[in-house]
Formats: sequence, C-alpha cells, structure tokens
Amino acid sequence: MKWSSIPYLWQQAYEVAWESFLEGARPIGALVVNDVGEIVSRGKSSVFKETSDSVVFHNELAHAEVNALLKIDNRVHKYVKGFTLYSTLEPCPLCFSAFYMSGIRNLKYGAKDKYGGSTNLKDTTPYLSLKPITIEGPICHLENLSILLQYYYDYSIQYVKAHSVHDAMAEEYPRAIQLAKQWVEEKKLKDPHHYTIEHVYEMMREDLVQLNRPRACGAIILDDHILMVKIQHGDRIFWTLPGGGLEAGESFEDAVRREMKEEVNLDVRVGEYICTYEYSHGECKIFLADIVGSVVPKLGYDPELPLDKQALQEVKWWPIDEMKDDYEVSMVLKAVDGSISRK
Ligand SMILES: [Zn+2]
Repeated sequence: MKWSSIPYLWQQAYEVAWESFLEGARPIGALVVNDVGEIVSRGKSSVFKETSDSVVFHNELAHAEVNALLKIDNRVHKYVKGFTLYSTLEPCPLCFSAFYMSGIRNLKYGAKDKYGGSTNLKDTTPYLSLKPITIEGPICHLENLSILLQYYYDYSIQYVKAHSVHDAMAEEYPRAIQLAKQWVEEKKLKDPHHYTIEHVYEMMREDLVQLNRPRACGAIILDDHILMVKIQHGDRIFWTLPGGGLEAGESFEDAVRREMKEEVNLDVRVGEYICTYEYSHGECKIFLADIVGSVVPKLGYDPELPLDKQALQEVKWWPIDEMKDDYEVSMVLKAVDGSISRK
C-alpha cells in the first residue's frame, strides 16, 4: 500500500513518531482523536529525551500515549467515551491502563509489541471488564514501519537492554528486523532530516520487496558438463546456475523457463525438483532442466542496465568435476547421484 493510501490519522500518528526520532527520542507516536475524527492531542515517547510539546519527559513513565493522554483537559473535553487513542506500537501495561482510566473507549495500534504489549489486560480483572472498550490492531502495512523504526533507534543509541525485545519482535516480524539490521549496517537514516516519514515508508516498501524474493534456477547437465553463468555484483564475481527472482504470480518452474531464455537464450523443459536453500532474500529452488532444441547457449543481457554494468558476464559449460565443490552444484550432484544419468 502506498503512503498516500494510508488513512490520514495513521499518517499523522507516524508523523509524530518520526518527529520523535528526529528529536533523538524513541520513535513512537500517539494521538487522541475526538468522535468527529479531529486530532485533539499528540504524544511523543520522551523517556530519554526532552521532546517538543511534551508534558512529561526524562522519566520511565514518559511514554507517547501517556504524553498524549495527559494533554486532555477534562474541563474542555468532558465526554471522551467516543474518542480514540492511536499508538504506533501496542501499548504497554502503563499505557493500556492510562488509556483505560482516561475514559476513552477506543484504542488503535500499529504494530504488535510481543515484549511489552499488554492489550490482553482487557477483561482480566473485574474492573478491567467493566467498560466496553474497542481495540483495533495491529494494522497491516504499518506494522513493519513501527518495528523497523524501533530497532533502528535502539541500535543507533546502542541500547543493549533492548536485545531481548528485538528477539521477541523477530519472532513476529522477521522481515522488519532483517531489514532494520541491513539499514543499521548501511547507516541508511544517518541524515534523518533529509527524509519525511513518507520517504522512510516508501524506502522500506521497496527494500522489503527485495528482501523477500524467492528465486528459481535450473541445472542443465549434458555430457558431464553443467551450464553456469558468471555474475558480477560490484566487486563480487561468481559462477552460478542460470536463474533469478520470481515475478509476481509466477511459479518456480515458469521462472526457470523464463530465466533460461533471458540469461542464456535456451528453451528448456523443467524437470525434477532438486532442493530448496535459503539465500539472502528468501528461498531458492533448484530444478533439473532439459534443453529443447539448440544446445548452444548465448549470453543474454539486462536491457535495464548499461552494457558496461551488466551483471551477466559469461556463460559456459563447466566440466562437473571442476565445479563439484560449488554449493549449488554439490546439491544437484547429491540429488541426482545414482538416480539420473549425467548424460
Ligand atoms: Zn507505554
């Protein structure tokens, strides 16, 4: 989902989280919204920092939701039952209780917090069962953004205490944590003032797609030779089986056929499934393939890249024995050994 399609109030909640981040505080944002959808107050997490427009800060209790709730003047807002508290992260016990005690009846949160999240306190005591509250969350499309920002923040301030929190988060949101680690390494947000929350969200969306891209490749064995391509990514040069990432809606077998055509200009029939292994962006499945027609490969090229920047460098029939220690080839050999002739 594009940023522009995200409901306005959620955009605003993340805007507050991002402002917190820009001020060096934990990127959690909260809003109190009245029954006609107007924002009544905003709250930033201010445990470690004095943030602008906050009621409490430099205190373990200075959470974003608390800051938003404390700004509600009950002389002005006498009837708050129809109000809604928004938070970019599931409220902790403190914030859930503050919400409950505030008289506001509706709660919405962006991502689940498997570590401190305590919306399951609802109905656990006679008192907590009294008020008919509504809870909505987590919100698909926004969850990863909350988690990514939390992790990035904790690592940038080297907050070691948070490691157990991240372990809990990784169970629920493995891709967000994986991407956050990558961003930390790349120092992606080192100049955060260059970005709006919309930029951050769109960069995340782009990177998440890349992060989870199943691949398929084909092993063609002919006369004790196996067909491989030489790839160059930056300084890294390696030989691999022809193949690549699946396109939307494409099966692994279709991807093998398409990649064979694109990379080495061969028509193939996809045969036996060999194995699956994990690569950096997901799973890769290897299939045996037979050539239909000409067995002379011709190196393809990526029309989106300039000629001197092509990843594909060479195609070659390698004697299998010379490549038997290659990771992919070794798996193919293990699978076909004895069961299929290499000819
Ligand atoms: Zn809290």
